[in-house]
Amino acid sequence: MSPSSETIQLIRMGRVGYRHALRLMEQLAAARRRDEMGDTLLLVEHPPVLTMGCGGGVEDLRVTIGNLRNQGIDLIQTDRGGRMTYHGPGQLVAYPILKLPDDDLHTYAHRLEQVALEVLAGWGIAARRIRAHPGIWLGRDKIAAIGVAVQDRVTMHGLALNVNPNMAHFELIVPCGIAGRGVTSMCAALDRPLDMEAVEASFIVAFGHVFNCTVEPQRAAAPWLVAPAPQEGTIPVERLVSDLSLHTVCQEAACPNIGECWSHGTATFMLLGDLCTRHCRFCNISPGRPLPPDPNEPAHVAAAAARLGLRHVVLTSVARDDLPDGGAGHFAASIRAIRQRMPEATVEVLVPDFAGALPSLQIIADARPDVFNHNVETVERLSDRIRAKATYRRSLAVLTWARQRGLTTKSGLMLGMGETCGEVIDTMRDLRRAGCAILTIGQYLQPTAHQLDVVEHIHPLVFAWYRELALTLGFQAVAAGPLVRSSYHAEEVWLETSL
Ligand code: SF4
Repeated sequence: MSPSSETIQLIRMGRVGYRHALRLMEQLAAARRRDEMGDTLLLVEHPPVLTMGCGGGVEDLRVTIGNLRNQGIDLIQTDRGGRMTYHGPGQLVAYPILKLPDDDLHTYAHRLEQVALEVLAGWGIAARRIRAHPGIWLGRDKIAAIGVAVQDRVTMHGLALNVNPNMAHFELIVPCGIAGRGVTSMCAALDRPLDMEAVEASFIVAFGHVFNCTVEPQRAAAPWLVAPAPQEGTIPVERLVSDLSLHTVCQEAACPNIGECWSHGTATFMLLGDLCTRHCRFCNISPGRPLPPDPNEPAHVAAAAARLGLRHVVLTSVARDDLPDGGAGHFAASIRAIRQRMPEATVEVLVPDFAGALPSLQIIADARPDVFNHNVETVERLSDRIRAKATYRRSLAVLTWARQRGLTTKSGLMLGMGETCGEVIDTMRDLRRAGCAILTIGQYLQPTAHQLDVVEHIHPLVFAWYRELALTLGFQAVAAGPLVRSSYHAEEVWLETSL
């Protein structure tokens, strides 16, 4: 039996809470049932949690609910088959979302077990099935648990393989409701530590083999990355910025939304020239030695914003580590010029980190922009590889500092650079701790062959899941989608904060 797709999209989630992962699984399965997406394999590790399948009951618990609560372990009822199961770090959990050729759940479950058997065999562990008990066994001990569900031929839930979980946590339950049998792990069987990523890699190979398909992240150009075409009869932004010797990040960063934004008469002005003193590996802006700041630029930006009739003006700049104030004074002068010319307009600044210099940040804070935006760009693990000079922790400190000065703060990150879902969620939490109110999440697109490769094209439904999740974490406004950029629909996003 093969699934309906020859290629199964792999989503490596990293460590994600059970409820969040379940929500994504449900949304992807619903989309699969509507044929809005292909087959998908989610690989995830959960923080400690107990889940109860349809066949389980409280009799499978060996401790009280209060005891579980004290240990910070949730108990969650699910709609899968089977009884009570423990999930936790060190356990590889696979949730295939496949459209089956028929409703034969038994054959599907058998195949899924076969994947675990092949993984274990590849690591030199001779495990087996036991007729009366689902799952995979090593002697009398279970090493992989299975619990699947199907609706309209689309599968949910899946298989949990014990790589190196905290075995003491299994003592909390009668695993899978089978008394008199135990639980074991790959590390216990081999009596040596194992690398989860290596086991995950072998699982992907075995899954492809058993289900006769290729399992990989979405890398090919995705249909959802086609930007809307520009509309006719709109203000010629290009001529306006060139007449006033201005730069826009829309052009310099090769933004995919330029057709849409410019045809609506919006643009993001880039102050302080078009050469940057840093060289981040994702960015299209040319590095080099910039010219001194143009003293006329603040007035020209204000004139252009007025001509375009902008109600919300977004300013950014290249990094100017060559200037004593990092260009902060120029930002402040531009904010003042806009306020003078357009008192009703709101101003959003997307600033560099000013190398963390408090006098520079104070200059920005004193100018009281309506939105103070500073991007973390990516998750902490990838930050040093992707950004030049800027650090993840310093960016969080800059945002915290701005928030403590009473500014509304905003930040953003690009996805598709090799981060896991868990890392994205951790970043959201860090940003919330920094007091950040507005979040943008978009897809990284390689501007030219000189910049970093795209590792993965994230599906729009995953972006929607991130948005929902970010709102539950307390962000007031979230824009998330493949083509979202820091300044995309900035006015609408800003207005959401006052709803
Ligand atoms: S999203 Fe921002 S940078 Fe891109 S075109 Fe629109 S205004 Fe310019």
